[in-house]
Amino acid sequence: MDYQAYLTWLNEIDDLSPEQRLETGRLLAGQPSLEAVIDLLEARVRTMRACPHCTVGGMVIRGRANGLSRYYCKSCGKTSNALTGTPLARLRHKDRWAEFAASLSDGDTVKISAERCAVAGSTAFRWRHRFLRAVTAGAIKLRGIVEADETFVLCSRKGERNLDRKARKRGGKAPKRGLSDEQIPVLVAVDRSGTTISAVLPTVSAAHLQVVLQPVLDPDALLVTDGCTSYPPCAAAMGISHESLNQTAGERVRGELHIQTVNSRHERFKTFLRRHRGIATKYLDSYLRWFHLAVLPRHPTPRAVLTAAAGILPVRQCA
Ligand SMILES: [Zn+2]
Repeated sequence: MDYQAYLTWLNEIDDLSPEQRLETGRLLAGQPSLEAVIDLLEARVRTMRACPHCTVGGMVIRGRANGLSRYYCKSCGKTSNALTGTPLARLRHKDRWAEFAASLSDGDTVKISAERCAVAGSTAFRWRHRFLRAVTAGAIKLRGIVEADETFVLCSRKGERNLDRKARKRGGKAPKRGLSDEQIPVLVAVDRSGTTISAVLPTVSAAHLQVVLQPVLDPDALLVTDGCTSYPPCAAAMGISHESLNQTAGERVRGELHIQTVNSRHERFKTFLRRHRGIATKYLDSYLRWFHLAVLPRHPTPRAVLTAAAGILPVRQCA
């Protein structure tokens, strides 16, 4: 943190409530990350007191269980704790979550995660997708020059029933290049501040592009793409300015316009995926979340991973 930002941050400390001061103190004292996150979760429930089962407020504390306060709802008679309703509810071995979060941050394979946390491979796999389920990018706006481009990821259909082709060894090549039922399109868009969004597309059509881009594009943005014919009607439908580069004719840069940032994001995503070979189509979205959580921000702390996994905070955006 630069000195000016640090001074601003110090000034804001004055506004902390006594409870927030206590929490911050524990954090600064180097409290283990899981307890810090559970503190955050508990604090959220303590303030809201809304029942996760029936949404009525006014829950009361009735003792503790598994290291968490147990809340009782007078309206529906059910009990809950700070994790109820989050993807981390009912996962066991809480004492290993911080290590698992560190392992996610490192981009470990299932095998390595399982060894680090001393759990079965199947557990590490389940945890990974549970931890990634609540990870969101938050409310994002892409502003100014926005590069958008799709890339294709080779996905296996392992574990799916009714395989309509011969089984292929994992990590292999698709029989056809380009768009086939195994090359899944992934749209990535990035502005010049480095803010990035991505999404798995059913197909690269103007309508599907619009569903992803419309909510995140600032109305004043300038969309830059390659010559793919789906972008002009999409930009027109959104009322967004659009420039396309004729890359097949060798046009890579025109003044300030290029799509090199988004293409380097593609490369990083593919490099990240290479370690996890044989990705099933249904998990591709989960890997994208992981990319936004741990690869783009470069090694977030286990606490940042846990707060994202618990759905408390969106992932941090950075260049
Ligand atoms: Zn209730």
